[in-house]
Amino acid sequence: MRYWAYFLSKAAAAAAVLWLVWKGIYAVMPEPETFLYMRVSRFPQDLGWTSALLGFWLLIVGAAYLVVWDQRRRCRTCLRLLRMPVERGSWGLATLLNPPRLESICPYGHGTMELPEVHVTGAAPPQWHAHGNMWTELEKRDSGGK
Ligand SMILES: [Zn+2]
Repeated sequence: MRYWAYFLSKAAAAAAVLWLVWKGIYAVMPEPETFLYMRVSRFPQDLGWTSALLGFWLLIVGAAYLVVWDQRRRCRTCLRLLRMPVERGSWGLATLLNPPRLESICPYGHGTMELPEVHVTGAAPPQWHAHGNMWTELEKRDSGGK
């Protein structure tokens, strides 16, 4: 829940910044005055306006990419950036048996993110493996596995 709330707040912050940029574009390039009761659309007619819209579109796409990219690199529990990427698997057995993947771990041990590096049948989604509480595991070992 906290993970998705953080994602939504980050997306809302990006949208607010983009809205300010949009208002800035409108302030710099105001609507042209009506001439002889004709009001022509600016988008395909005015090169400056069209270029500004295309640049704004690229800014939107870039911001969305950054928001998603940053979110995919975070721990699902504590939202910290995942650390210590380790390559697992084998390129020699890349098809089915042991495909190569990149694993990153939360610095506080909440879980591991597994990013597949080989996409045989399309883009494989990253997999999150939550770790249990390490203290209960240690207590279990200390008590003889009971
Ligand atoms: Zn964590």
